Amino acid sequence: MTGVGGGQASRVSVARCDTYAKDSMRSAVEGMLETLGGMGVFVRPGERIALKPNLLLAKPPQAAITTHPLLVEVVAELVREAGGEPVLIESSAAGMPQFHRGMERVLRRTGMREMADRIGLEVDVEGDTRAVSLPEAQLTKRLDLLTSALDADGLISLAKFKTHTFTTFTGAVKNLFGCVPGLTKAGYHAKLSDVDHFADMLLDVHQALRPRLSLMDGVLALEGDGPGTGGTPRELGLLLASADALALDAAACRIAGIPEEAVPVFRRARVRGYQGWASGETEIVLHGLDRLPLEPFRRPKRALDPTGYNTTGRLQRLVRELGKQALTPRPRPSSERCTGCRTCSRACPVGAIRMRDRLAVVADDRCIRCYCCHELCPEAAIDLELSRMGRVAERLGLV
Ligand code: SF4
Ligand code: SF4
Repeated sequence: MTGVGGGQASRVSVARCDTYAKDSMRSAVEGMLETLGGMGVFVRPGERIALKPNLLLAKPPQAAITTHPLLVEVVAELVREAGGEPVLIESSAAGMPQFHRGMERVLRRTGMREMADRIGLEVDVEGDTRAVSLPEAQLTKRLDLLTSALDADGLISLAKFKTHTFTTFTGAVKNLFGCVPGLTKAGYHAKLSDVDHFADMLLDVHQALRPRLSLMDGVLALEGDGPGTGGTPRELGLLLASADALALDAAACRIAGIPEEAVPVFRRARVRGYQGWASGETEIVLHGLDRLPLEPFRRPKRALDPTGYNTTGRLQRLVRELGKQALTPRPRPSSERCTGCRTCSRACPVGAIRMRDRLAVVADDRCIRCYCCHELCPEAAIDLELSRMGRVAERLGLV
């Protein structure tokens, strides 16, 4: 076990774990938790502990889009050994009833159902919600959240190590957006198409749910145009854990070579004055590694550029909107790959997608560039393309 950094900092554990084998995963997770004080610090006997994996799509674990069921299994075992009662929760947009027979299909395809049945893990994906008031929140003063998360005694975020076309990186903080029910998520995309506003909402959700512990599955990670089928799996061989979800994400981005300023959640955390999470402030403890790995990830080709969207004047808003239309990538369903499944048209928060001859067609003037369709398309059939002006600006290094 090797220490890096130090001081009054959040602590992040990083462990080598090359394969999804039970013994190595269990020993890596135990090692990381020992550094954080052991599972007993996070779970008291008799407590109900919600385990929230990333189950974005009904895809198998080798697609690297969802948290591997083995990590959930190991953490559930450790919660039980600490005297707690684990329950798997989720409300994937891809799992809503109108999408391919709902959440059960997501559970089966991701391997979660087999694992949960085998170890007798309770699964609560009913999607019941409750509105909560958040007077302290900076942006969203009222949120609809899963009762399965709100009513649990404690929450553990089990994130996947992935790049993200809209938010650049998705980790333990963004994973909690899954506690916003199903298609309500698309509503937030519609209202908060400004990525910094969206990041503020994510920080509000995080503040409301306050996970006791976060772990990240980076054994097989995802780079490029994630977080869905547009991304590319990458063997990283790492697990991460921390009581501080933001610090965990910052350590992951440090490993992936993603600068802080490229991630909207970190930009907003800075503005809010959050402390103790950034790479220079964090104590990183290594297990099975002699130094923190640096594995530069391919970032999303079409990530939104942070161009200062927080303007309020009418002219500024108009310029921003025109610039956004011209310079940000447009979703383009491929006629060769689109199967006409309608997932995208049902998910689009502003009704910008129509089906024509069983092919998805996007109305650019209505599209707010939230990329829900790109994220949820099960066939990786939605490309993100720049307009001619956007391509010129890209060549000039302006976007
Ligand atoms: S673009 Fe994708 S999500 Fe939309 S209809 Fe075609 S296959 Fe389905
Ligand atoms: S077309 Fe796609 S990117 Fe555009 S608003 Fe609809 S879901 Fe979002």
